[in-house]
Amino acid sequence: VDWLLLDRDDTILDDPGYLSDPEKVAFLPGAIEGLLAFHRAGWPLVVISNQSGLGRGLFTPADLDAVHRRFTDDLLAHGVTLSGLYFCPHAPGQSCLCRKPEPGLALQASQELGLALGQAVMVGDKDSDLEMGRRIGAAFVAQIAAKGQAPLACDGCFESLAELAQRLLGPGTSGLTA
Ligand SMILES: [Mg+2]
Ligand SMILES: [Zn+2]
Repeated sequence: VDWLLLDRDDTILDDPGYLSDPEKVAFLPGAIEGLLAFHRAGWPLVVISNQSGLGRGLFTPADLDAVHRRFTDDLLAHGVTLSGLYFCPHAPGQSCLCRKPEPGLALQASQELGLALGQAVMVGDKDSDLEMGRRIGAAFVAQIAAKGQAPLACDGCFESLAELAQRLLGPGTSGLTA
């Protein structure tokens, strides 16, 4: 089964920098619409996120839990369920195997959820996301450039998750009215 591996910050949520306040959870334009289209099409949705704010001591695990509760509650209110939500709590330089572009979180998700890495579509805004997608042999590696970022080397650059859904699922499938 085809599935989405998604970065969180500036791919789904607007990134204010080390997001730690649930009140600041804000979805990018087209993000919920796009996720809903993939969810309705039966694609498992798995979020993998570098959260070095933990390793840097900028916020606590309880802060991150609160953000993720708001994040998943907002998605659920729109009919979107995540199959998995994984994060790396380490700072750069801690030599962990889970901070993207290291593939640890993707490998963990693949094993725990029984999803094949070669059928994953990796979606992110930074080269570390896209590089991880290449390392795991993802079927498709997509950039979301919601803020007008320059296109990076990958299989496709999109303004929003809604646009990605239109491309991968076909036209007319990303509407909220279906
Ligand atoms: Mg990001
Ligand atoms: Zn890590």
